[in-house]
Amino acid sequence: MPRDQFGRQINYLRISLTDHCNLRCLYCMPLRDLQFAPSEELLSADEIEMVARAAAAVGFYKIRLTGGEPLLRPDVVEIVGRIAKIDGITDVGMTTNAILLPPMVEQLVAAGLQRINIHIDTLNPARLKRLMRFGTYERIWAGIESAERAGLHPIKINVVVTRDHNDADVVDLARLTLERDWHVRFIELMPLGGGECAAFSLAQYVPTSETRDRIEKDLGELTPLPASHPSDEARNYRLPAARGVVGFISPVSEPYCGSCNRMRLTADGRFHLCLLNDDEMDVKKALRNGGGVDTVKQILLRAVAHKPTGHRLEEGVSTEIRGMFQIGG
Ligand code: SAM
Ligand code: SF4
Repeated sequence: MPRDQFGRQINYLRISLTDHCNLRCLYCMPLRDLQFAPSEELLSADEIEMVARAAAAVGFYKIRLTGGEPLLRPDVVEIVGRIAKIDGITDVGMTTNAILLPPMVEQLVAAGLQRINIHIDTLNPARLKRLMRFGTYERIWAGIESAERAGLHPIKINVVVTRDHNDADVVDLARLTLERDWHVRFIELMPLGGGECAAFSLAQYVPTSETRDRIEKDLGELTPLPASHPSDEARNYRLPAARGVVGFISPVSEPYCGSCNRMRLTADGRFHLCLLNDDEMDVKKALRNGGGVDTVKQILLRAVAHKPTGHRLEEGVSTEIRGMFQIGG
């Protein structure tokens, strides 16, 4: 199992399949002047499989597919199937806006998808449209229902909390856990990419303490639950008599860098060492120069060794070169 220079075990790889997206959430993707990687610069299914094999060979067991929007990738079912068959990979998940999910969810599950995190910021259709732009409540909700019908369990819902856009809607979202055994997770805004999305994220940031107070005021006390895994980034709670879980992901107000177990692979083939930092290591070049699993293993181990100790948001340092849609969350 690879350990970084701070003794953290790094065993979870998040793979971005594309930097394209069918939505344009205000804090993630600008509307204009977007530069997407040309398709020949994206890693192919063969190359992704090679990296996943190398990761498994050095002790990674968990892989999450993300983006941009991973379901835009025409070979997404094939990629899931190839990764799920790799010895040592026991946990294959996806983070998605679920718009394209209903017609393909059964194929994804048959191919080996085990977990899904679905992103919906509010249950209010008008506010959803303003915040997630191009997205509609009906389509995302249909995606969530299709995931549940296909047996994906537990359904995890990602909510990015933004002042004046959905901060009042957190109560309705948390209320979902009363009847359903879902995990509804409230995420603090992070400023990435240096441009308008970063500026929006800084201006509209809502601390977890405020979200929590709002939920408790309307729905009752949140009882803390034991961590399901030491590196679970969410602090989990249960509302009185609820079936599901309310989680808070607080990278700004309560950083969890000390228990980070992640490495990220960008869609254009670079290991991104920390979400909130620009350091990267190119693996695509080695792959395209004929490198095999052993070469990728060496690059990955070097990337693990160079992970920074933690983010430096409090000093005003964040990712400048990449936006969230180019890294995958
Ligand atoms: N398109 C998919 C989706 O939205 O779930 C996968 C990619 S998206 C970049 C992954 C996650 O990043 C989203 O679920 C969203 O919760 C989160 N996210 C995006 N921008 C963010 C920001 N500025 N701060 C905090 N979380 C953000
Ligand atoms: Fe697309 Fe996800 Fe970013 Fe929203 S958060 S723009 S759905 S990549």
